[in-house]
Amino acid sequence: MTEKYDLHCHSTASDGVLSPTELVQRAHEQGVTALALTDHDTTAGYEEAQTTASKANIKLIAGIELSASWQDKSFHIVGLGIDPHYPPLLEAIRNLQVIRLERAGKIAAKLENKRIPGALESVTKAAGDSMITRTHFADFLVSQNHVSSQQEAFDRYLAKDKPAYVATVWAELDLALRWITQSGGVAVLAHPLRYKLSANWMKRLLTAFKQAGGQGIEVVTGRCSADEIKLAATLANDFELAGSVGSDFHSPANQWVELGRLAPLPTHIKPVWELFGQAVNIV
Ligand code: AMP
Ligand code: MN
Ligand code: MN
Ligand code: MN
Repeated sequence: MTEKYDLHCHSTASDGVLSPTELVQRAHEQGVTALALTDHDTTAGYEEAQTTASKANIKLIAGIELSASWQDKSFHIVGLGIDPHYPPLLEAIRNLQVIRLERAGKIAAKLENKRIPGALESVTKAAGDSMITRTHFADFLVSQNHVSSQQEAFDRYLAKDKPAYVATVWAELDLALRWITQSGGVAVLAHPLRYKLSANWMKRLLTAFKQAGGQGIEVVTGRCSADEIKLAATLANDFELAGSVGSDFHSPANQWVELGRLAPLPTHIKPVWELFGQAVNIV
């Protein structure tokens, strides 16, 4: 049987709208047969997703999307087939949660300077035990009618160089890769074209990424053009990286992105799932 993969999505454990159960059910309805749950800096949704995946007969791949810093820039590294209970990873997750909470306080203070009070209380309440993300702040700004959409919240307040942006030091790239690979996972550079790197910087990044044990790169994402797939495939080829496919689904309200709705991986690219061996944690 040919699998239908989606190796990048979010649940309420980070900034997704659907619970792990709802997410897996929706993936099943969309014909996905192998799903990786990759919440920002947490594996908290895994157990619940696994329970539902077993019932729906979906292969669930334990995943995470780690926030990493390298050369004063931020990157997202997707870990696939990790051990969600690997102690060093769990410790890293606790540290990242503290970093996120501290950052949230700073973002809220910046918003307060812009005469927008109450953000911290609102986002901590909305996030509960989950990872606080800028998406929570975007939702807060929408709910208070300061902006009319999440996108506008980023464009006016939360994106880099905007008034409520807070530069953050995440996990070092080398460390993030180590947590993934030492827990049996495959490390994949998420959405490579979103960082807007020059060709030279991209080369430096991918060289460092490979040296630190990175094995894959997202070639097909939820909303990408044929040209973008070509470009990412060229990077995969040039740096001998396997190609991954993932929607980066967050919410059913986004009509442009759906679980499993992905262009096929170009046939000359080695699929990342061929690297999923015995060591990989797949239900
Ligand atoms: P964080 O990891 O807390 O910085 O939040 C990053 C998340 O915010 C991303 O995973 C996206 O879901 C969302 N995000 C980042 N930039 C934008 C943007 N320009 N427009 C909409 N959502 C964004
Ligand atoms: Mn997100
Ligand atoms: Mn990301
Ligand atoms: Mn993501």
